Amino acid sequence: MRTQIVAGNWKMNNDLPETEALISNLKRQTKTSHAEVMVAPTFVNLYHAYEALRGFDIEVIAQNMHFADNGAFTGEVSASMLESVGVKTVILGHSERRAYFNETDEDLAKKVDTALKNNMRVIFCFGEELADRKSHNHKKVVETQIKNALFHLPDDAWKSIVLAYEPVWAIGTGETATPEQAQEMHAFIRKTIEEDAYGIDIANNVSILYGGSVKPNNAKDIFSKPDVDGGLIGGASLNAEDFFKIVNAF
Ligand code: PGA
Repeated sequence: MRTQIVAGNWKMNNDLPETEALISNLKRQTKTSHAEVMVAPTFVNLYHAYEALRGFDIEVIAQNMHFADNGAFTGEVSASMLESVGVKTVILGHSERRAYFNETDEDLAKKVDTALKNNMRVIFCFGEELADRKSHNHKKVVETQIKNALFHLPDDAWKSIVLAYEPVWAIGTGETATPEQAQEMHAFIRKTIEEDAYGIDIANNVSILYGGSVKPNNAKDIFSKPDVDGGLIGGASLNAEDFFKIVNAF
């Protein structure tokens, strides 16, 4: 069985007192599913979150990372810096990074390489815009994003890759892909990995998360689809009760 994951992406929300409050609430929740649970606070609160969640079954992960090992990159954060504060998993390629910070597939391929070189796990995000779906180009767009950033990897790298399909039109909009739309894309992604490069074992073992307006009231339907292995949760992860309703929707 594939690893099930529910990861909360807090984005640029929560200062230190708010982070403390949310973590205290998270510690009061009860997990009834087998899903791995992760939260991604802002960089400045990572170490605090790591310390505060020590001993709890919630992994603290990062929202981004630079591809260089170190050096003159003002304002950036490296893989080894993340590792040094306890972070072992990083989200890369989120659509907000692509849209507002011009991250390209080429940059992301380098970031993935750097993360893997530093023994980190990557949650790699991708997804089409509304115009792509309307023009029936969505599968091509997703295929290109995955191939450009990941298909140079050797087979054994895939054990450290988690995929997150996040249609841009569903992020923060309250508009979710239907469970059928998610399933169709996830199955397509798995087939692409199998047929165009890596074979059935790697394709069957990679966890593919769905992201985009997952809420307590729709998580169960989305997670019930055979190729959906969990979720990347934005807005609903800022409330501990809602987040755990999603975690427990498996
Ligand atoms: P959302 O965000 O749940 O608020 O739509 C998802 C994401 O950006 O990962």
